[in-house]
Amino acid sequence: MKMINKLIGGLLLLSLGACAQGPSNTNINKASMSEKKNQYYSTTIKEKLVLPDSTWKQVLAPEVYQIARQKGTERPFSSAFETSKEVGTFHCAACGNPLFKSTAKFESGCGWPSFFEPITKGSIIYIPDNTLGMQRTEVECGKCKAHLGHVFEDGPPPTGLRYCINGVILTLEK
Ligand SMILES: [Zn+2]
Repeated sequence: MKMINKLIGGLLLLSLGACAQGPSNTNINKASMSEKKNQYYSTTIKEKLVLPDSTWKQVLAPEVYQIARQKGTERPFSSAFETSKEVGTFHCAACGNPLFKSTAKFESGCGWPSFFEPITKGSIIYIPDNTLGMQRTEVECGKCKAHLGHVFEDGPPPTGLRYCINGVILTLEK
């Protein structure tokens, strides 16, 4: 009987051990998934990029997919780009389209990277957004229609606009 108890105890420990390994395995998977190869990312190809949702899901890191294709919003003050003063061009993290110059970036204090103008008019698409009981203007990438954030009319000169953009959907090319 004692032997059996010992055996059951051992099995229990074994299965607990297996459980304890679960989360670390998941983390490894997550890390490798964030480095997914996105063959559609190009900073030079200008043509519009239309892909099925299933393809986006395959090539984008989960956090990018959630913002770009499901119109998610990252937590405020979570992006290193919010306060960064790095110089370069911000591109769409999903397709590589140039969106904003670092010279158009300003610190709005709103919790997300903020810009007063896009690189060109065609860099961005504007869409009326009446969700959450608010009248806002959503901004999407002009090349792949990834959700970027919203634009508000309380920005600094010369435009008076504040493009409030999720940092996750930006890559900085220096
Ligand atoms: Zn894009």
